[in-house]
Amino acid sequence: MAALRGGIDLGGTKIQTVVVAEDGAVRGEARQPTPTKGGPADVAHAMEDALREAASAAGVKSEELSGVGVGSPGDANGETGVVSGARNLPDWEGSFALGEELSKALGTKVRIGNDVQVAVEGEYALGAGRQHDSLLGVWWGTGVGGGIVLAGKPWLGRGAAGEIGHIVVKRNGARCPCGRRGCMEAYAGRAAMEAKARHEHAQGVETDIFKIMEKRGKDRLTSSVWEHALREGDALTDSLLRRAVRYLGTGIASAVNLLDVEAVVIGGGLGVRFGDRFMDHLTTEMHKHLFVDDNPPHMQIAELGDLGGAIGASLLVGS
Ligand SMILES: [Zn+2]
Repeated sequence: MAALRGGIDLGGTKIQTVVVAEDGAVRGEARQPTPTKGGPADVAHAMEDALREAASAAGVKSEELSGVGVGSPGDANGETGVVSGARNLPDWEGSFALGEELSKALGTKVRIGNDVQVAVEGEYALGAGRQHDSLLGVWWGTGVGGGIVLAGKPWLGRGAAGEIGHIVVKRNGARCPCGRRGCMEAYAGRAAMEAKARHEHAQGVETDIFKIMEKRGKDRLTSSVWEHALREGDALTDSLLRRAVRYLGTGIASAVNLLDVEAVVIGGGLGVRFGDRFMDHLTTEMHKHLFVDDNPPHMQIAELGDLGGAIGASLLVGS
């Protein structure tokens, strides 16, 4: 049983946990909504509950796991287990010793990593990237995150590498959620796309996307709202998604020019939902900016699905 390990994907809306065997096979899983009130300690408590539930589905106690890995938003320090500035979690502007707290609660060692980086490492080890030695993961969702594997090893830089969403694609361009201008995320991130859609709508541009949002009982433009609006032929939706893909292609090409990776894996909420549909467009846009254009990287879509982040996190602990 010592070969089983746990993984937790800590997201802004849900906490997904898994217990996996040495070969990556999922033996148990559970999910809980992320607390929207309270603070880091309440989030840690919900994580403990969800992980215990996954362990019990796998027929073990959390204490029997060889360890638990956590993919966390914000600034996740793998050395200390401290998570800082996780702004999409309740009252988590400051620092919290998440690794230490969870380790005490679960009775096994806990390793912390960046949520996108661990998801990319999961794809590298077990999913879309397993045929390749080097890859760039681009996680297209609320923001645009990234992860890098070079020569078989994760490249973290000094801890902050992979922030492909903040590659500048237009000087003095659109305002990015990070506060700067012209970042790729300012055009391609779901939050920025929603802000743009609201602005256009307020200026009188016709669109059904907000009606679709309300009909689906949402108060923001989720990936599924974008998908429904696209399916219904909404022109603003189509043009904003195409614009996002254009800038994704520009930013990815710049990263490929620098790193010359074998493969690019597209993941994230929008990436998985729209990857197939927009892959040709994305590839065309990327090609326009490739310096060496006769040997492009393999373009792939993340394969591990909803559990990918948690499975990738489990790889932080050796079995
Ligand atoms: Zn930015």
